[in-house]
This record gives sequence, C-alpha cells and structure tokens, in this order.
Amino acid sequence: MVQPNKLTMKEQLKLLLRVQEYDSKLLELDMRKSFFPDLLKQLKTGIEQLKKNYKEKSDRLIEVKKEIDFLELELESEEEKLKGSNEKLPNVSTNKEYDAVQLEIQTHQEKIDDAEQKSIVLLDEQSSLEKEVSDLETNLKDTVAKNKSRIKEIEKNSVEIDDIIVKIQLERDKIASKISKPLLNKYRQIRRGKQGVAVVSIVDRACGGCRQALPPQRIQEIRAGKLTICENCGRIIVELETLDD
Ligand SMILES: [Zn+2]
Repeated sequence: MVQPNKLTMKEQLKLLLRVQEYDSKLLELDMRKSFFPDLLKQLKTGIEQLKKNYKEKSDRLIEVKKEIDFLELELESEEEKLKGSNEKLPNVSTNKEYDAVQLEIQTHQEKIDDAEQKSIVLLDEQSSLEKEVSDLETNLKDTVAKNKSRIKEIEKNSVEIDDIIVKIQLERDKIASKISKPLLNKYRQIRRGKQGVAVVSIVDRACGGCRQALPPQRIQEIRAGKLTICENCGRIIVELETLDD
C-alpha cells in the first residue's frame, strides 16, 4: 500500500474528490433506504386495516342473521298466540272476557308488528352488509396480493442497496487510506456543516461552493495543488483540470 506521505497534496486532493463522490453516493443510498421502513409500514397497515374492516363487517353480518332468526321465531310464536286468542273469541260469554281477549289480541298484534318492523330494518342491513363484505373480500384479496409483492420488492431492493453500500464503503475506505489523516479529518469536519460538499472546484474564477470571487494569486496556488480553504464558506477548493496533470 502507498504510504500517505508518499503522495503529493495534489494527488491527495484528487483522491479526496473521489472519496467525496463515494460519500455522496453513500448518503444518497442511505436516504433511499430511509424511506423503506415507512413504506413497508404503510403497506402492512393497509392490509391490516382492510382485514379489520372485513372482520367487523363479517361479525356484524353474523349478528344480524342471528337477530333475524330470533325475530322469526318470535314472530312464529306470537302468531301462534294470536291464533289462540282469536279462537277464544267466539267462546267468550261476558263483556269483561271479551275485553280481556281483545287486549290479548292487540298485544300479540303489536308484538308481531314490532318484530316485522325490526325484521325489515335488519334485512336491509343484511343485504347492504353482504355487499360490503363481498366488496371487502375482493378488495382485501387484491390488496394483499399487490402489497405483498410490493413488500417483497422493497425488501429485495433493501438487500441490494446494502450490498452496494458495503462495496462502495470498501472502495471508499481503500482510497481514503491513502490520504493523510489531518486532511481526511479536515474534510470530515467541513462536510458535516456543508450538506456533504466539502471539496469544490473553481467556477468562473470563483469558489464553486459559495461563488465568492478568488484573487489570481489564490487561483495560482490552487492550480499548483496547494491545500486551499475558501475564506468565505470554508470549503476546500481544487481545480479539476489541473488535478489530472
Ligand atoms: Zn466558498
């Protein structure tokens, strides 16, 4: 391995630019990965929510059917009782008896009417629930298939990105090992405060980071490969063309 002190500052700056390229790539990959947990959560929650809705509606449908069955039994029983009361009517001998039987008839009839009213409402609910449950079933099946394939895709993507990160990191560290520690530390320190861009080139005789014009003397120094820090933004300035000399 080349010793750091064997490389000129110019050569080290050239390597530093490559380190920065790798670091930017790593940052971008980390950023892409950072969206995955939320995405996965959303996809899983989507399925869970539908399952919950489906269960709630299905449970209610079962309940409604039971209530309807119960009302039908009640209706049958009341109709039976009404029939009995009606049969008693021709045999009553007093007004008092007649009134009592009439009251019985009225009570049974009211219960029958009430049960029929409730049945109508419940049958209505049953029919709309059956439609909802059937729609939810279709929706659930589609969503599970769609979201699961998306989840698999994201998980695969995540593994691929991890592989790329490991490779880039190795490559980056290999290059960084040829750069002197103080220069690397300086780079790291600048990067932290400058959104990841610590090394910039000269653009139109100005600092490529902050656009502050550079005196000719400084440009000469930069071209010669001298480590130059922008007085305004604090970034390392290099000249791309001369780095390749
Ligand atoms: Zn600057």
